[in-house]
Amino acid sequence: KAKEDGKNIYRYYSQQLTRRAMEHVSLASELHRALTHDEFLVHYQTQFDLQTRAFIGMEALVRWQHPTQGLLLPGRFLPIAEGSGLIARIGNCVMEMVMQQTRRWHEAGLDPGVVAINLSSRQIDSERQLELIRDGLDRHGCKPEWFELEVTEDFLMQNPERAIELFHRLRDLGFELAIDDFGTGFSSLSYLKRLPLTRLKIDRAFVRDLPGDADDQAISCAVIALGQNLGLKVIAEGVETQEQADFLRAAGCDEVQGFLFSRPQPAHAITETLRTRKQHIAAANAGS
Ligand code: C2E
Ligand code: MG
Ligand code: MG
Ligand code: MG
Repeated sequence: KAKEDGKNIYRYYSQQLTRRAMEHVSLASELHRALTHDEFLVHYQTQFDLQTRAFIGMEALVRWQHPTQGLLLPGRFLPIAEGSGLIARIGNCVMEMVMQQTRRWHEAGLDPGVVAINLSSRQIDSERQLELIRDGLDRHGCKPEWFELEVTEDFLMQNPERAIELFHRLRDLGFELAIDDFGTGFSSLSYLKRLPLTRLKIDRAFVRDLPGDADDQAISCAVIALGQNLGLKVIAEGVETQEQADFLRAAGCDEVQGFLFSRPQPAHAITETLRTRKQHIAAANAGS
């Protein structure tokens, strides 16, 4: 009996694995087509100053408009892209789209604030990639200070000395620089001091169970204090409830991003938001 059960369990798992593997293989082969057919697009999630509630900027997040499966989130395809070596090409494509869109907003007199772009390690690990980033600014008529580049902590951990050098070069070009998902890796404090950062992003995992969870309280407060001591802005992501926002504000967190304030949205929806905001500001100025 036990043997029979074992066999069934084995069969069940191997079927699951096969299905997963097949989905993986088919998405991997489709990524090439997606790149040549422009199936990737960017959604933007707005960010706010937690103390004044002012709009400060947004984060660019890639999506895949799949012809049969609908809109896919990065969790579905970026790990596959990472494995198949296409991650840099997708990242470059995102950067092109974001620079072009950001330039349009500026041209239209709609201030988008600082636009954050997520970078994979593959996008900055070669001279050619760095040149591509710099050339992108020229080609699209963009200023570096319009953008923040976000890199995850684990990238910094892989090769700290190289990361320090890269960060200095990107900062010298004029970009703002942030560590994403901060608190999930184990960067040493002395090392953080050597990075020319502008912002730390508290990972969503530490925000989710606020304000109830004592460990997450301790971690988020420690990150906020660390940021303050290093002279960096701290932004919390994944803020979904008023209680979370209240806790973070009281703890001295500078900025927020999360579903409580806004979901990631297509560029045209952001354009509307920016236009409405501009009209409000103009009306307020006319009134005073
Ligand atoms: P991330 O950079 O930490 O981005 C924040 C993620 O949290 C986004 O997920 C966003 O939609 C989600 N989020 C924001 N607020 C909330 C909230 O209140 N509740 C919940 N439950 N989620 C919230 P998304 O868009 O699925 O992206 C996942 C990850 O994929 C990103 O995490 C980032 O690491 C990666 N990614 C996204 N776009 C790019 C890209 O263009 N290039 C690279 N290399 N990675 C990217
Ligand atoms: Mg990010
Ligand atoms: Mg993050
Ligand atoms: Mg994250």
